[in-house]
Amino acid sequence: MNEFSALGLSQPVVDAIESLGFERPTTIQLQAIPKLLNDDTDFIGLAQTGTGKTAAFGLPLVEMVDSSIPETQALILAPTRELCLQIAREIGQFGQYQKGLRILPVYGGADIGRQIQELRKGIHILAATPGRLRDLMRRKAVDISKIQYIVLDEADEMLNMGFKEEIDEILQETPESKLTWLFSATMPEEVRRISNQYMVKPFELSVGQPNTGNEDIEHQFVSVRPKDRYDALRRFLDYDNEVYGLVFCRTRRDAGELAEQLTRDGYRTDALHGDLSQAQRDRVMERFRSRHIRVLVATDVAARGIDVDNITHVFHYNIPEDLNFYTHRSGRTGRAGRKGISLILAHPKDLALIRRLEKRLKTQFNGVEIPSGQEIFEKRLMGFFQRIKNAEGHEAIKPLLPKLLEELEGLSREELIHRLASMTMSRGMKTHLNGKELSVKSKASRISTRGIELFINIGNMDVEGKAGFLAFICRQSGIPGSAVGKIDLNSKHTFFHVEEEAAEKVIRAFDGTPYQGRELRVNASQQNTGKKKGKKKAFKPGKKKFQGVRG
Ligand code: AMP
Repeated sequence: MNEFSALGLSQPVVDAIESLGFERPTTIQLQAIPKLLNDDTDFIGLAQTGTGKTAAFGLPLVEMVDSSIPETQALILAPTRELCLQIAREIGQFGQYQKGLRILPVYGGADIGRQIQELRKGIHILAATPGRLRDLMRRKAVDISKIQYIVLDEADEMLNMGFKEEIDEILQETPESKLTWLFSATMPEEVRRISNQYMVKPFELSVGQPNTGNEDIEHQFVSVRPKDRYDALRRFLDYDNEVYGLVFCRTRRDAGELAEQLTRDGYRTDALHGDLSQAQRDRVMERFRSRHIRVLVATDVAARGIDVDNITHVFHYNIPEDLNFYTHRSGRTGRAGRKGISLILAHPKDLALIRRLEKRLKTQFNGVEIPSGQEIFEKRLMGFFQRIKNAEGHEAIKPLLPKLLEELEGLSREELIHRLASMTMSRGMKTHLNGKELSVKSKASRISTRGIELFINIGNMDVEGKAGFLAFICRQSGIPGSAVGKIDLNSKHTFFHVEEEAAEKVIRAFDGTPYQGRELRVNASQQNTGKKKGKKKAFKPGKKKFQGVRG
């Protein structure tokens, strides 16, 4: 039986899912779909974008809405135009075999007259931004008095954007009997208030812990002086030409200037900020989606609702002013099961903030080094020779080969390679060759090394990932998760940092204890003696799990 059928979805919907290429349900879909299909309950899903939450509510809606009744039965509120469009598109695909099912996105910044005309045709599922929906309600162009389901998607974002009044007004117009499903990445007080005021005993589900980063995102930081920040960003972009990324700035001015500077230096880039008209914004997004833009520079507000798959990196050109934004920024990568990197270009003074972020997200930030100019230079050169190795010889050249060989007669293989390599050196490569060291080292390493580093002979083969390891250590020794810092999990052993007081507890709980037929061993790692300095990991984009360099 198909795993989606097993959740209680009907054949036409399962067929639609198959045509989209979804092979199996994501965690939130597994848990939410049967609940929403079978129980008449209010619902809170703590989940970020990228977890498959749209389908978690969209599939049940498609099942439950009756397309033979010409009434709006489901309303979805979402913070941005992009998100409304995306939700409507996705639900339209889920309902592609449901005869006569009509779905419409309505949002601000577009011709309201046209939207009113569309609404007159009769819409079963409406996806709306709160502001535009309120306008439409005031013009009596939409009737939400008979809806059975209301979904508040990205509730925290809607409130962040100041839609509080609109949401209240809309909720008050809906019938008592409706069910409310709320999705949010974080649970600030304002979202709690909505749930207390408007929802009845909601069933709560959280994918991962609330406020926790998605496991597919590796969180990293580098410590860099403000004057070196631009060069540092360039190093990361140059080190890996597969980077397809977003760079976040705090202000539109910074975003504009950064994009301009990058363009001048030859990067395919543009800025997305609040000064753009909707049409300009659409054009930028289209160029980013089609990869004409490789690095999109954005402000927090403008980037809301950006929904692009396969983003490999999110760079924080500045640490966000409001730490809650961090989750939203980083959530643009690591989507749909793919891995991604979220990297903060931190001011040396920001390290305390990063520590707070670690605590809040219950995740670990790895300190990485800015690739050195020499590393980039070598990588580029090697890339060139790899391309030579893999190139197919062109037929037209063949007859000329004897002549060419004659021309180069007398040159050894070594000399030939040396000259070829020298000729490929672009201006950029030469710049890198003379590039100075940019990482601010001493302080950066301080944060990734909390307390004492311990060694234990338990590894990947015994526990499931870092989260499994953390749970195991905390459960058995009684120390809180917040006392544990960096974890370097290997197959049979692990190095991990713990606060000093906790270290003793861990040693007492484990050392000498029998475990699955062997004796556990815990001791302070050699690295902690100060004789050998732990080398930080090199930034290797695309590489999912970095191996810590152990002496
Ligand atoms: P969302 O969290 O709803 O924004 O979804 C993120 C992305 O994952 C979207 O591009 C979805 O089309 C895709 N997606 C959702 N569910 C699945 C699934 N079960 N299998 C594969 N891809 C999925």
